[in-house]
Amino acid sequence: MNKELMEKSVNENLENEYFKKLEEEHKKLFPPLSEREWLATFPEALGLYILPKIEELKITKRQLEKSIREAFERIKGKVDGWFLELVIMFFPGQDLLDIKSQLRRLQDLVVVPENRSDNRTKGVSEEEKNRALAKPIESVIGRHIKLKKVGDGFSGLCPFHRERTPSFRTYTKTNSYYCFGACGKGGNSINFVMEFLNLNFIEAVRFLNNNY
Ligand SMILES: [Zn+2]
Repeated sequence: MNKELMEKSVNENLENEYFKKLEEEHKKLFPPLSEREWLATFPEALGLYILPKIEELKITKRQLEKSIREAFERIKGKVDGWFLELVIMFFPGQDLLDIKSQLRRLQDLVVVPENRSDNRTKGVSEEEKNRALAKPIESVIGRHIKLKKVGDGFSGLCPFHRERTPSFRTYTKTNSYYCFGACGKGGNSINFVMEFLNLNFIEAVRFLNNNY
């Protein structure tokens, strides 16, 4: 390495050190916010970042599921089952799990379905909406599908896709549900009623408040 290059790399190292220190000081001054706190201080992030990101992840998830299905079809019957599982697990399967957990995290943040256009929420007060959201998720869902107590919540067969082993879960603490199976649907009591009974936002809020 010639002298000039060496000086350059020494300078770059010093510079990196300097920026690292700055970053650490910044972190001390401004402790990182939780995602929820961050969203509360920057509510525009919901429409600007979180909802588009959810849509993007959903598209990637569908593509991965499709490629897994296709890979499965191509080699089905030609190789042993364990080998097939290995291939799928190490290639798109792991990515799919990562994407599903990212999606779950973001969808949990979006407690209120504000992605629906604004005028759909007109006619329902904040109080009515919060009352609907507070209805225990297991009693809302339990009226339509059979649920079994598991950990912090309940589990059952997903009502949104066909399956034989339960991958649908409800969470008492966050009063939410999520399907770990093929459809990956999740949300709060309002989301569930909208999807399951095919109601719009206002109808779903009124349905919940009148029936539970
Ligand atoms: Zn499902």
